[in-house]
Amino acid sequence: MKRPSKVLYLVAILAEIVIRAPYNRQRKQQEMRDQRVSGLERGLLGLLFGTFLISMVYVFSSRLDRADYRWPEQTKQRVGGLGAVLMGIAIWIFWRAHRDLGQNWSPTLEIAERQTLVTRGIYQYIRHPMYASQWVWSVGQMLLLQNWIAGPLGLLGFVPMYFLRVPREEQMMLEHFGDEYRDYMAQTGRIFPRLRR
Ligand code: SAH
Repeated sequence: MKRPSKVLYLVAILAEIVIRAPYNRQRKQQEMRDQRVSGLERGLLGLLFGTFLISMVYVFSSRLDRADYRWPEQTKQRVGGLGAVLMGIAIWIFWRAHRDLGQNWSPTLEIAERQTLVTRGIYQYIRHPMYASQWVWSVGQMLLLQNWIAGPLGLLGFVPMYFLRVPREEQMMLEHFGDEYRDYMAQTGRIFPRLRR
């Protein structure tokens, strides 16, 4: 179970890199109207990258093996299978969100000259599908990488980013899109769709 789960995890990472690559490329050619890359924002991205590096140590070496979950083999297999399914769902949401956000995507908080407000596709249900996909991914990682260090790392890197960034991102969107974004907020949830719209 251990080796396949490491391979699966790597494949999942590669899938996200491939999905993101074209958006990364075209973003570099864009003029920016507003950039809010504070020390905090840099710190959050740094933390995320740090946790990613440690999970790579787990994947490519046996250094962290002492911290492996000690569960019955059958439990490990079932939990691992569920983890793999969650990672698959996360990748699907990630892909949809990139497709719908298109050239408005950015790795940080910024507004491009040509930025438009996206309220269609997966964005008609939730305002932060990429972050939603990261939640699903982080839980999937905890189940797939069966190690007390590598497993929870996804959550460790992402949770602070989610809670500190989302309010600032929404504030920025409100300042640029005003009532249009306010109306959009009234119709959507952050990561769970609103039941009544
Ligand atoms: N929070 C969103 C987007 C993440 S990318 C998600 O989880 O899917 C971050 C950038 O997306 C921000 O810098 C902002 O410029 C842009 N953005 C966020 N929501 C947007 C929307 N509804 N329409 C257009 N751009 C948006």
